[in-house]
Amino acid sequence: MTDLKSMNLEEMSSFFRALGQPAFRAKQVFQWLHRGAVSFEEMTNLPKSLREQLGESCFITAPAVERKQVSAQDGTIKYLWRLGDGNCIETVLMRYHHGNTVCISSQVGCRMGCAFCASTLGGKVRDLTPAEMLDQVLFTQLDSSLPISNIVLMGIGEPLDNFETVLRFLELVNSPDGMNIGMRHISLSTCGLIEKIDKLAQLRLQLTLSVSLHAPDDETRSAIMPSNRAVGTERLFACCRRYFEQTGRRISYEYILIDGVNDHDWQADLLARHLKGTGGHVNLIPMNPVKESPFRPSRRVREFQDRLERQGVTATVRRKLGGDIDASCGQLRRKQLLEGQTLQDPKAGPAADRGGIR
Ligand code: SAH
Repeated sequence: MTDLKSMNLEEMSSFFRALGQPAFRAKQVFQWLHRGAVSFEEMTNLPKSLREQLGESCFITAPAVERKQVSAQDGTIKYLWRLGDGNCIETVLMRYHHGNTVCISSQVGCRMGCAFCASTLGGKVRDLTPAEMLDQVLFTQLDSSLPISNIVLMGIGEPLDNFETVLRFLELVNSPDGMNIGMRHISLSTCGLIEKIDKLAQLRLQLTLSVSLHAPDDETRSAIMPSNRAVGTERLFACCRRYFEQTGRRISYEYILIDGVNDHDWQADLLARHLKGTGGHVNLIPMNPVKESPFRPSRRVREFQDRLERQGVTATVRRKLGGDIDASCGQLRRKQLLEGQTLQDPKAGPAADRGGIR
């Protein structure tokens, strides 16, 4: 079965050419899929015979809402989606003044092993497909009736560990015949896979790169982020400088402040020394406690911020949204797993067969 929605317009054109169809079919189907069509029957401007032919050889991904939580505090919505194969992933919709932002997942689970993060506790199950990434934006918009203007790739998974898929997703969501979301409205967050950051730099995309730093020294960073052991902070900082030089795009650094682990004055000083003059911006994140983790939120957020600012590095403290709905990375999927509800439902067919979105 062919996953049409993961194709770009060019691939779809050759697909329809091979079926002996006129060139404009590709654009018609592309537009239907990117508007959220869940069946070929809906595509009323296609001949009936073609619709039937497509129905036999192709499938349309459409996640089902497994759980939906709406924050009473700030309107943040968290979706737990069930995918066609029964796996679950999360998407969060945040309502900012500058527009509605979705935080999407790139993998089912994660293999990076960060000690403070709930997404990685069960390891990586599989990569998402481009269509499954796009669906999170598309069906969040359709289900909530809120127009989405910004995307952050900061949900479950390591986007650069699913590199080609993420590039294809960016192409799809950016397409003028699709959702048409501008690259400048997209952020990609990585734990710091340097070979992939270098590859990304060559593409000179207008997106914002966020690097999850969380510590400026190897001892601390390797202890909380196993992916640092092979890379090291010196090489990571050098890679980030190259990225800035090649793309002209300033990097934003995520820094979850953890009590007694990475919130010391000397760490702020070391961080400032590395970032000074690079245009890099630090996003300080009050930690969301994860039950299985021994870490607690820092009590020195303001001091840490002031210390960076005094040394010429801009730092903002991220506003906490959705605190009442397990909105931090991987927490809802984790909860579902722990409650023993089956996340692998062998009976579950493609969501479209089960009535599509709810
Ligand atoms: N793998 C990518 C993207 C997913 S994690 C990366 O590492 O950047 C993205 C972000 O999730 C982290 O940088 C952090 O901002 C947030 N995060 C993870 N666990 C958290 C926790 N316990 N509290 C607060 N934020 C958390």
